[in-house]
Amino acid sequence: MTSSLLTNGTFFFPGPTEVRAEVMQQMTKPMIPHRGPLFEDMFARIQDSLRVIFGTTRSVYVSSSSATGLMEAAVRCAPAGRVLSIVNGAFSARFSAIVKACARESDVIDVAWGETVDLDVLAEKLRATRYAAVTVVHSETSTGALTDVRTVARLARENGAVCLVDSVTGIGGAELRFDDWELDFALTGSQKALALPPGLAFASATSAFIEQAKAQPGRGLYFDLVEFDAYASKNQTPNTPAIPLFFAAEMQLAAIAEETMAVRWARHAAMAKRTYEWVDALAARHGGELRVLATAGKRSPSVTSITLPSTIKSSGVLKAVASRGFTIGSGYGKNKDTSIRIGHMGDHTLEGLGRCLAACDDAFAELLAERPAP
Ligand SMILES: *Cc1c(COP(=O)(O)O)cnc(C)c1O
Repeated sequence: MTSSLLTNGTFFFPGPTEVRAEVMQQMTKPMIPHRGPLFEDMFARIQDSLRVIFGTTRSVYVSSSSATGLMEAAVRCAPAGRVLSIVNGAFSARFSAIVKACARESDVIDVAWGETVDLDVLAEKLRATRYAAVTVVHSETSTGALTDVRTVARLARENGAVCLVDSVTGIGGAELRFDDWELDFALTGSQKALALPPGLAFASATSAFIEQAKAQPGRGLYFDLVEFDAYASKNQTPNTPAIPLFFAAEMQLAAIAEETMAVRWARHAAMAKRTYEWVDALAARHGGELRVLATAGKRSPSVTSITLPSTIKSSGVLKAVASRGFTIGSGYGKNKDTSIRIGHMGDHTLEGLGRCLAACDDAFAELLAERPAP
C-alpha cells in the first residue's frame, strides 16, 4: 500500500486536497441499495478503518454533508446552557457563528491569528462562568496553528462543560486520540487530511454525549446525532448516503488505517518541518518579513500559512507557482492577499513536497527579483 501512496502530486491546496486516481475511480462503481447487506457490510468495513483513525471504540458517524454540517450537529446536540467559543482564526470563528445562529447564549475568547488560546486564560474563564460547552478548532486551517485540544477538553470537563472539537485538518494528519484523550465530540471532513473528495463528514461522540442529547429540544432532524448514533449501530445512515463517496472512502480509509496513524502523523510532521526550513532559508536570503504565521511549537503538521513580504501579493505567488506546475493556496479571510498557504497533508510525501517547494523557491526568486523572469 505504501507504494500507491507515493504519488507525484502537484496539488498542495489546503483543502480540498489531492485524491489518488484509484480512489477517484471507486466512485464509478455501480450503485447499490443503501438498505441492505451490500451497503451495511461496506459501512462496517468503513467503521473498522474510522475507529483506527479516530482512536476510538465508538461508532464514527458518516454524514453526507461537508464538515460544517457536523459542526452544527455538535452545537444543536450539546447540553443546554452557555457556550464558550475559542476563536483564533476563520474556522473557529465559523464555529462561534454557528453557536450564535443556533440561538445559543455564548462568549468568545478572541486569540490573535497564528496563536493558540492561553490555557491559563481559558481555565480562569471556565471557572468564572458556568459553561455547558466549549467549541475549539484543533488545526486552524486559516492560520496553521495547532491547539492542544486534549488539555482544552480536560479543562472543560473539570469545569462541567463538554468540548466540541473541529479537527477538520487534524484527524488523519495530526495526532488525535478520541478515547485516550477523553474527548466528548470530534469531527472531520473528507476533503482535508483524509485525502478524499469533498462531500462527507465524520464524527464521534461519547455515549454520555448522545444520552444527554436525547433531552435537548430543537436538535433538528438532518443533523441529529441521536439518529446518526442509532443508525450507525445498524451499519446504516439515517438518510440516503452519498454512496459513490462511500465507495471512495472504503478504499482510502482502509489505506490510511493500514499506513498506521503513528506513521501518518510522523509523515505529516516531517512535511511540516521541511516547509518551515524552506521558509526560514528563503527569509534568511530576503530578511525579515517572510515568515511562518503560526507560533513555533504550536503549528499544525497539515497546513502552513506563510506571511508574505509587503511587496508581494498572494495572487502573484499562486500564478508564478502554477506556471511551474503546482497548486498552493492563498491566505484565508483577512489574510487572503498577504499570505499563502501550503497544504502538506493527505497522501503527499516528503519527496513530492520537496518538488513543490522547489517550484515555490523558483517562483519567489523571480518575484523577489533575485533574477529576472525567464
Ligand atoms: C475546511 C474546514 C472546515 C469546513 O469544512 P467544510 O467541509 O467546508 O464544511 C471547518 N473547519 C476547519 C478547520 C476546516 O479546515
